[in-house]
Amino acid sequence: MRVLVTGGAGYIGSHAVRWLSSAGHDVWVFDNLGRGHRQAVPPDRLIVGELADRAAVEQVLRTRRVDAVMHFAAFALVGESVAEPALYYANNVLCTLTLLDAMRAAGVSRIVFSSTTATYGVPQTIPITEEERQAPINPYGFTKLVMERALEDYSHAYGLGYAALRYFNAAGATPSGDLGEDHDPETHLIPIVLQVALGQRPQVTIFGDDYPTPDGTCIRDYVHVDDLADAHVKALERLGPGSQFKLNLGTGRGYSVREVIEACRRVTGHAIPATVGDRRPGDPPELVADSRRAQAMLHWTPRYTAIDDIVRTAWTWHRKHPHGFGD
Ligand code: UDP
Repeated sequence: MRVLVTGGAGYIGSHAVRWLSSAGHDVWVFDNLGRGHRQAVPPDRLIVGELADRAAVEQVLRTRRVDAVMHFAAFALVGESVAEPALYYANNVLCTLTLLDAMRAAGVSRIVFSSTTATYGVPQTIPITEEERQAPINPYGFTKLVMERALEDYSHAYGLGYAALRYFNAAGATPSGDLGEDHDPETHLIPIVLQVALGQRPQVTIFGDDYPTPDGTCIRDYVHVDDLADAHVKALERLGPGSQFKLNLGTGRGYSVREVIEACRRVTGHAIPATVGDRRPGDPPELVADSRRAQAMLHWTPRYTAIDDIVRTAWTWHRKHPHGFGD
């Protein structure tokens, strides 16, 4: 298949590009490099452009004779979405609608869409199934939920086939260490803890230890980025006209912030000082996936379930690239 990957220079997108290429697909990346990295993408596959430019997107879809789109391009930080909701609605909603319009005009009728556990808000039941009520508690989650609804409506009305993949916490890196996570500023737990191990930060602050969890810190389901990429390729290959897949992607195993820090200490051999700070607004106490539906529908099994194995791949990346891609 000829696949256009928006946001393919970003963290999850760049891993998906690798997996798509390995599976024999003809891959093009469309990215404005605002938060992505040129070095994360094969140079002859990168198209630098803005999703807001409908004509440019439509032209790429037509000239490359694209069969399907994987849409990663979005902003994805909860705190930032609270402070700057306009950015999130413009980028995650408006640009996605523009992309969908361009796809309709060009006759492209399949899309794999990056959704998120943030669409559930504070879940009533753990592990979280796809039937859980979607009640976001921050603008980021709302923007993704709005687009899930739009995809559903477009599917009914226009026959669009879509997969909305609701990620839990993406983590890790390619085992070779040449592709990994590079955000500026970094806000995610595992890279921050590994930056402490590298001596780039004095300590990690644990955001609250008074949650109703066994050790008081938040529990998350960390899913390896290569397992996410694998699920994307499988979802794409199963999409037909009018398909509507809404699938959780996680491992089904939760780890607390303290457990993640302990794992990083074991893997790196560094002491990694940690202190307890205030809760971060918008953090639910526990998010763990029930992803049996994805496993059954996609014949997908996450290969990484132990946190030490996930951290080890991230550590290889951070040691090889202490300053990320260096751009
Ligand atoms: N966290 C933390 N200290 C940090 C960064 C994150 O305690 O410096 C916690 C955060 O409150 C959450 C978990 O680690 O409970 C995972 O956060 P991250 O930002 O990596 O992912 P998110 O859950 O926001 O998608």
